[in-house]
Parts: sequence; structure tokens; C-alpha cells
Amino acid sequence: MLTQEQLLGLDDRHLVAVDDQWLEGRTAVAWQRLKADAADAGFQLGLCSGWRPFHRQLAIFNGKAQGERALQNRAGQACDVRTMSDADILDAILAWSALPGASRHHWGTDLDWFDAGRLTREQLKLEPWEYQSGGPCFELAQWMEANLARHGFFRPYREPLGGVAPEPWHLSFAPVAEDALSRFDANALERLLEQESLALKDTVLSQLPGLVERYCFRISTP
Ligand SMILES: [Zn+2]
Repeated sequence: MLTQEQLLGLDDRHLVAVDDQWLEGRTAVAWQRLKADAADAGFQLGLCSGWRPFHRQLAIFNGKAQGERALQNRAGQACDVRTMSDADILDAILAWSALPGASRHHWGTDLDWFDAGRLTREQLKLEPWEYQSGGPCFELAQWMEANLARHGFFRPYREPLGGVAPEPWHLSFAPVAEDALSRFDANALERLLEQESLALKDTVLSQLPGLVERYCFRISTP
């Protein structure tokens, strides 16, 4: 069971190293089995992102809010923070990037995969077309659809539900992640964000209960 600190991305003691990334212990075992199973089917399953700490997510969020990192709206079009309201900037960021402290990647139970037999991590853009028909990860994505549940994984961002945009590359290990979500504490998140240098802080804090409902709890279930 993960602690409140681990749920917020502030503690890394539950993690083990795997494929140059960090994953929660049971998730890492399940990942290795899934990867071996994929190898038997002729695929080279690659792990491009596992655990991510709070301050890494904070840097991503602030970089996008301040125009230092590329920002796309929910439709995937590039946008310019200088011409946008704070509410619109927040909506665009959260379609693709979690609020710091509210990322499932903080738990170590969630990861992003790609087909390492078809392209390198550097070539990968993590854009939906790469996983759709004609894209380099499409064949492995089809294999994953048929096999990931057998290893305990599911896709929380499978459908467009008005929260996080669909991410075909994002997997979650249900046996640990479902318990983590059930104990996620929005009050602990609020206390943390109040004391951090977060861009758009007033906008975020004024809407926090709604943001948590929309971007944490509105997911596709296993
Ligand atoms: Zn992800």
C-alpha cells in the first residue's frame, strides 16, 4: 500500500530500477512478464517513462504555463500562452500533462511504452498517430490490447472522457493503482501546492476539487 507521500511523488522508497526507469515493485515484476510475453510474440516492448517525481512534474507544468515548453490544446494544435486566459492555459496543459502531485506516474504503477523494435526513444514523439494504423507502434498496440489485462495492466486514458486526452501509450498496473486512487487525498494535494512555486496557482487552487474529479477520477476502468 502506498503512503500519502508516495501518492504525491515525494517519496521513492517503493521503487525498483527497470529498463533505465523506476517502477513500483509489483508493477516492475508484472512489466517484466508482459515484456517477455511480447518478446515471445516477436515484439520488442520498450519502456519510455515510468516513475516521475513531484518536482519533475512541477517543472513540466510550469514550463508549459510560462511558454518555455511547447503547449498543445486538447485537439493537439500548438498554442501560445501569451494570447490565452489562465483558464484556457490550464485546460490545455491538463489535457496532456498532470497537475504536479496528481500524476499517476508519481505512484510508480503507471508507465508509457513504445515499440523499441521499430524506433528509438529519441525518435518517438508520444503522439497518438504513432500508435494508430500506419504508425510505428500500431502492431504492438494491437497485441497489447489483447494481452495487457492478463498481466494486470489496463489503460486509464483509453477513451475521451473530458479529462486527460486519450493516451494509447499509457498503462497502469491495476492491483496497486486502484488502491492508490481510492486513497488519493485532495486535501493533502492542496496543502502541498499551497507551499510550492506553482504557475497559475490561484486558478488551480480555486478549482482544485473539480480538477481532481476531472483529471484523476474520470478514467477508463479495467
Ligand atoms: Zn503516461
